Amino acid sequence: MIVCIGVVSYLKVILVGVDGATYWVIKDLLPRLKGFNKLAKEGVICDLKTTLPPLSSCAWASIYTGVRPSRHGMFDFVGIGSDYGVHGMGFVNALRYPVFWSLLGRFGFKSVVVNPPMIYPAFKVNGVLVSGWPSPKLSVYPSRFGKILREIGYRIDVDGLEGRFRKDPDGTVDDLVDVAKIRGEACFRLSEELGNWDLMFPVFTICDRIQHFALGRNGWRKWVLKAYRVVDEFIQRALRLLRDEDEGLLFIVSDHGFQPIRKTFLVNSWLVKKGFAKLRYSNIRSLIREYIVNGVSLRTIYWGASHKRLASLVGKINNLFLGGAPKRGRFSINDFVLRKTLAFASGTISPATFIWINDDRFRYFAVRRSKKTLVKEKLIDALLEVRDSNGEVIVRDVVDVENLYNGNGRDDLVSPDLMIVANDEYTIDPWYVSSSYVVGPSVYRHGDHSFEGVFAAAGPSVNRLKDFDFCGVVDVAPTILNLFNIGTPSWMDGISLIRSNTLLKGSLRDNLKIKVKVIEKKVREFSGG
Ligand SMILES: [Zn+2]
Repeated sequence: MIVCIGVVSYLKVILVGVDGATYWVIKDLLPRLKGFNKLAKEGVICDLKTTLPPLSSCAWASIYTGVRPSRHGMFDFVGIGSDYGVHGMGFVNALRYPVFWSLLGRFGFKSVVVNPPMIYPAFKVNGVLVSGWPSPKLSVYPSRFGKILREIGYRIDVDGLEGRFRKDPDGTVDDLVDVAKIRGEACFRLSEELGNWDLMFPVFTICDRIQHFALGRNGWRKWVLKAYRVVDEFIQRALRLLRDEDEGLLFIVSDHGFQPIRKTFLVNSWLVKKGFAKLRYSNIRSLIREYIVNGVSLRTIYWGASHKRLASLVGKINNLFLGGAPKRGRFSINDFVLRKTLAFASGTISPATFIWINDDRFRYFAVRRSKKTLVKEKLIDALLEVRDSNGEVIVRDVVDVENLYNGNGRDDLVSPDLMIVANDEYTIDPWYVSSSYVVGPSVYRHGDHSFEGVFAAAGPSVNRLKDFDFCGVVDVAPTILNLFNIGTPSWMDGISLIRSNTLLKGSLRDNLKIKVKVIEKKVREFSGG
């Protein structure tokens, strides 16, 4: 048991989570962003390495827990069962590793956490917790704080983005701005109401949503700037608030970065074309015809989305990304002759996606265990050769991940076998069907994730640093704990950027000069579990 008596800290930390915030985009818009500008001048700002795959669920789980995806097991939003059914991976609440604000709470530090993605329902914390996207409904601990949120018209997110951007891009952007403004306001109001907080941690999702739509389009700046401006206004207000504190620090972290998308690689279409998967129809054209004639619908999006065990989480995510998308032309598990399908892809549209070998872990397997390595090798060779019509190589890398992503102890999920990583400006869509396996981006996918987000730190004790460019999302939790003089728990993979011994991180430590004013120092190191 951890006992901690009489700790009084004057340190206030504001950690601003910005889903999808990207260093190169910030640099581009910097002259028009006062708050970020101040950070760049007076603090540290650099790339932040995300997880593989670079997905929000995966990366936020690593940010909260300080644990790598292969260990926390949340490698996507949904996984595949042995019956090919889609199962939501659930929320971070169910993982076996605690989130950093729970650990802070154990030492008596109070947090105000608003909209952390993949946290639902709100659980008991020392402070306030407002559940994050994709919560099926708003959940607040303690529930009495819900009143403030209702008063100011708090919303979790804007749904149906594919359709809404198609009809009215400017109106949709303005609606997202509205949601984000209220989110920032909520964070200050809740902190004020709670009083005496130590950590404020809001997460803004607006940069993700708008960059998905806008990056890669002509004139992207007018939309993207609006997203960063709302966050920038929050940062300016937060810096003003911290100025009055003895010791205030502001951090910015994102879960992944963004890049413009020129082309989409339809991996399941490619698998069919190359004979790794077989359709119930004679070819893809007849599948498309089937969709047109019989109107097979959107139920197919995440395979078997009408599946009984479908988590509300899956519906929520479908609605955000694909609400309003054309209902035709998407793959379903029903479209494959499974006994003749050696491999299939699944997962969220992203520059990194997964392939499963249809071996004896599945009900209608087509690959014997003894043949699995052979199939995998063939597939890797073929994937690395995939070329666009202009001769460009599409797949940057294929990683053998067999048995790697099964860390969450979920025996209803089958671990994927290969991870495909696309080259710059390509994304991978397992679901869309076309007679060509390379197509243009969809309305909501002119931008997609990249492997470098952003990290920034500012405050009276953070000196300007140059050439500081090496940290990853798993380092966030140990660093935050360390700010409050709490050692890195033994289960974490990340290292504190303040105390680590590597050269670059050492230089940050020396420059941070953080003085946590603690009257009485008690148990400061975790002994494990
Ligand atoms: Zn994200």
